[in-house]
Amino acid sequence: MEPPSRTGFADEIDPAGLLAGASEHITMKRPVRILFGAVVIVVVILGVALARVPLFKSRQVTAPRVRDLPVNASRFAEVLSRAVRLNTISSEDPIPPHGSALLGLHALYRESFPLVHAKLRREVINGYSLLYTWQGANPSLPPVILMGHQDVVPIDDPGAWSEPPFGGRIVKGFVWGRGTLDDKIAVLGVLQGAETLLAKGYRPQRTIYFAFGHDEEISGEHGARAIARELKRRGVRAAFVLDEGGAITKDVVGGLKRPLAVVGIAEKGYVSLELSVKMEGGHSSMPPGETAVGAISAAVSRLEQHPFPAHVDGVSRQMLEYIGPEMSFAKRVALANLWLTGPVVARELASEPATNAGLRTTTAPTVISGGVKDNVLPKTASAIVNFRILPGDTISSVKDRVISTIDDRRVQVRVLPFGSEPSAVSDTNSPGFRAIQKTIAQVFPDALVAPSLVLGATDSRHFKNVSSQIYRFLPVTLTEKDLARIHGSDERIAVSDCPHVAQFYAQLIRNACSN
Ligand SMILES: [Zn+2]
Repeated sequence: MEPPSRTGFADEIDPAGLLAGASEHITMKRPVRILFGAVVIVVVILGVALARVPLFKSRQVTAPRVRDLPVNASRFAEVLSRAVRLNTISSEDPIPPHGSALLGLHALYRESFPLVHAKLRREVINGYSLLYTWQGANPSLPPVILMGHQDVVPIDDPGAWSEPPFGGRIVKGFVWGRGTLDDKIAVLGVLQGAETLLAKGYRPQRTIYFAFGHDEEISGEHGARAIARELKRRGVRAAFVLDEGGAITKDVVGGLKRPLAVVGIAEKGYVSLELSVKMEGGHSSMPPGETAVGAISAAVSRLEQHPFPAHVDGVSRQMLEYIGPEMSFAKRVALANLWLTGPVVARELASEPATNAGLRTTTAPTVISGGVKDNVLPKTASAIVNFRILPGDTISSVKDRVISTIDDRRVQVRVLPFGSEPSAVSDTNSPGFRAIQKTIAQVFPDALVAPSLVLGATDSRHFKNVSSQIYRFLPVTLTEKDLARIHGSDERIAVSDCPHVAQFYAQLIRNACSN
């Protein structure tokens, strides 16, 4: 069948000739057929794209709101305030300078949560970390592990705080201070949640462990890692682990009217590579064509010019599958058809550093050095480049790509210590993820839920031999401004938000451990 056209003479019309004012009658059947073919293809693609939209179903769940877990907001906020006043900044020193503050925290837990301390087994690991065991009625069920850390990061700029960082003041409806969000609220939330359940006479079927490290901010080596090793030695294999990592974000993701609870199902790896060049030194009055400083700068520049590829697959794709159906029609069409729109969506997401980091292994030159005097050519120059590794890449694949990108045999590349591989990706169809999602729906009914990739490292990475299902979520609501308070200044939590943290953990225990 010939293509229909308004004139009926489409095959004989030569648009190029008309435009050129040519009077000659030239037949150009082939280009028109190609044009027609292209139109058909576009129509088919659009049809398929639109047909996929109704199949792009919401993955949100609804469940009855929790109303039977009373937590006294001002009393709980007061406990948090006292915890903040105990300065537990992590330090690399072998004997923590804030050991007595950590012991002070332990005393605060004992005083504030008497039922927990009467009914649960409590063990101290390496002096300051804590492992609580809440024995389930059915020991054959795999246990659940709830995590939190008791240490905090130092204060960069005390002058930037509106309230003293270790004052624990309760002002204008907020508890202010270091650790209110990261992560003392999690430890206290777990303990308060358990206390509330115990007061109701609740008994879990499944055993629950609380694992509270004391050195998360400096690697978790003596805290979480030691606890995980002890659990592994005892043969514990957990159904799932929940640590900090994600949160409920408000006005952070464009195009979503509701708050978004992001549950980390994986976390990025970490490696720093040192690049170094050795060359002839000498006097700067007779420089060679290229110096050590020039060669190292060129190497760093090549790495920045050739970033790792961005992919909208893996965890980022799963996240879009949860968020997409909740967006406007145009965005739904785009996100339901990543087979078609993937490159455009990737380009859009890669244009912002925060979303870019979720799509690729990132390259961040952080240190560069070489030279000691303005008139001497240095014999060596070096740089350190920090990479946050996407699941799928490894420390060794990052190193290989760096060497081939630099493509300069004079540049030596060395892996610096304290790297970590990216985590495995946990399942969104597991009972653990489903219990977390249901609990969010019950305690934060406004929030949408989506799996996510955690960009930093958490203590949970030490638990990879104890469970294959590791999730990262702190049940607090954060605006974009609040995100900067974590490790920044004016860290705080609303007094009215405190009870929800405890209610979340209590309800999660009921959802995950009652059978
Ligand atoms: Zn933390």
